[in-house]
Amino acid sequence: MPTIYLPVSLPPFLTGPLEAAHELAQEPSSKIRGMVVPGGFAVSEALLTSLPNLEIISVFGVGYDGVPISRCQQRGIRVTNTPDVLTEDVADIATALVLMTSRNLAAAERFTRASSWPQGAFPLAHALRGKTAGIVGLGRIGKAIAQRLIAHGLKIAYFGRQPQAVDYDYFNKLEELAERSDFLIVACPGGSSTKHLINAEVLTALGKDGTLINIARGSVVDETALVAALKAGSIRGAGLDVYENEPYVPAELIASDRVVLLPHVGSATHETRHAMAQLVVENLTAHFEENPLRTPVC
Ligand code: NAP
Repeated sequence: MPTIYLPVSLPPFLTGPLEAAHELAQEPSSKIRGMVVPGGFAVSEALLTSLPNLEIISVFGVGYDGVPISRCQQRGIRVTNTPDVLTEDVADIATALVLMTSRNLAAAERFTRASSWPQGAFPLAHALRGKTAGIVGLGRIGKAIAQRLIAHGLKIAYFGRQPQAVDYDYFNKLEELAERSDFLIVACPGGSSTKHLINAEVLTALGKDGTLINIARGSVVDETALVAALKAGSIRGAGLDVYENEPYVPAELIASDRVVLLPHVGSATHETRHAMAQLVVENLTAHFEENPLRTPVC
């Protein structure tokens, strides 16, 4: 039975099926041939060195920004992830954040629970129809977000490294997309190439009527610049599912009534997490049986 290393605790619906065909280890050693990590988990050089016979890293998530891909390629370590099965759930959460921020729904719910209604109506919010959503990273999730927001009457524009065969307006400068957008929605991968892509200049371009939505990775947004923009009122608000230093959320964001904060729940449904777990197991099984990987990254 191949030995699989789990550096962090993973749910039983993943470890159960893994245990059926593998030996699971909680400590690194030369016995280990496979490793399972959650999306975004940072695989350090020291960790790789402690696993001299590692053959495959199976990421329980679509984002593999924590895995040093070129180093893995050098060592001949295969990497897999869990694309597609989580796309719709994450797009739903992005849409929820657009609705929650535009209609001020979290505050409206707190207002009702606080029995404030008899003292007067809840303040007016903002409509979605006719507004523009600028999507940063029009991939699987970005496209699913676009479909949903079109149904809510928004126009779609996007930024990426190259234009795609879609009908939405393409911007090759992020500040220009931000200037055009009422909602700037981050859906690109994390990692060094996108670190702090959303900086003070982009937030200034988004402007005082603009809202930032981030369902991608916390690293893509300069959180210090975001806090400053919210405090100064240079953007209207933000809806966030991800943060730079998860699970810690900056106190300034928690204190702000201009933001909606979710605890990284983009793919957090029974259905999706089970489908992700199944892909993790299928990739490992395929590797150890010398069959083609289901969803290889490299
Ligand atoms: P995907 O299909 O690979 O899409 C990523 C998109 O980002 C591509 O269209 C790519 O377009 C664009 N992109 C890549 N590098 C870029 C850059 N430097 N600047 C701007 N755009 C760039 O991935 P996906 O399945 O949609 O997932 C996207 C990300 O969502 C994941 O990497 C993950 O971090 C995050 N995610 C979050 C949650 C959550 O729970 N909140 C759940 C799942 C995934 P071009 O190649 O044309 O630039």
